[in-house]
Amino acid sequence: MNLCNYILYTRVNFILKLRMAGDEMVNITMLGTGGNVPSPNRFCSSAFLNYKGRKILIDCGEGTQISMKKVGCGFKGIDLILITHLHGDHINGLIGLLSTMGNSEKRTPLTIVGPRGIKRAIKAMLVLIEGIPYPLNIIENPSGAFSINDGQFKEIEISTIKLEHSTECIGYSLYFKRNRKFSPQNAIENNVPKYLWKNLQLGQTFYIDDNAYTPDMVLGEERKGIKFSYITDTRPINTIPDFIKESDLFICEAMYGDDLDIAKAVKNKHMTFRESASLAKLGKVKHLLLTHFSPSVDNPSYFIENARSVFKNTTIAHDGIKIDLSYNAED
Ligand SMILES: [Zn+2]
Ligand SMILES: [Zn+2]
Repeated sequence: MNLCNYILYTRVNFILKLRMAGDEMVNITMLGTGGNVPSPNRFCSSAFLNYKGRKILIDCGEGTQISMKKVGCGFKGIDLILITHLHGDHINGLIGLLSTMGNSEKRTPLTIVGPRGIKRAIKAMLVLIEGIPYPLNIIENPSGAFSINDGQFKEIEISTIKLEHSTECIGYSLYFKRNRKFSPQNAIENNVPKYLWKNLQLGQTFYIDDNAYTPDMVLGEERKGIKFSYITDTRPINTIPDFIKESDLFICEAMYGDDLDIAKAVKNKHMTFRESASLAKLGKVKHLLLTHFSPSVDNPSYFIENARSVFKNTTIAHDGIKIDLSYNAED
């Protein structure tokens, strides 16, 4: 292992924790932070989310499998893959991953969400790898908000936005709902027998002596969940700030660090660090994580002030960086 790879491996263990006050709920690992082509230090776009053991992948550029091996997130547990668009740096790793998941004994269903053309692209992949041994559900060109009606995914509301890129491209926002707090006061006022409190809090309903006991009778006010948004590849269109509004974490492409590269950003339908930071500021997000760096940007940290002068809570991503998002204990 050369020195460069050694540094990359050690940085994998750097963990950024946001909102430490509550229980950890959503774990995010950046698997690939490069745009266009993979380089020795940056694989192409991919992010991995773990929510109560359910695993979600966003984009699957070249090198994703290698990065997954490095961080040890496993292959067969991926149940949901969200693809932003069909450019190679976001999808070229998918064919290998679909095949590896089958070889890793995956037999549970996989859902893939993507823009127009995703079904045709996956059909072509399946021809090359001669099929897969698990059920596949493809959601093409979704609009607005939807949920995957399966287990823990029911607790996640997925929203989409159309972006402005050189091909059809979707941005995603995931809202992880939070259970309402238990309210002993409501339980007492509604004459709920104490032995039912725990199970009602867990969502069960009981019918006893012509009385119905429902979870509503023991629960208090709604509580704020966790919002996560992921925007790449696009120009900074004016619908984005509202879409990412008050995200706990906003992951955003930042193809060019230097302000002088604005003409390239306009031409290639990407953003500069400053433009990404302006979106974070307008959207009043809590934290901005920049990713999808041009192969011409060797050291993105060199340009960090171009973003931080606009939006202070900015971090430069690298392959393997981990972020833990928690509910806020005070909400
Ligand atoms: Zn890209
Ligand atoms: Zn692209």
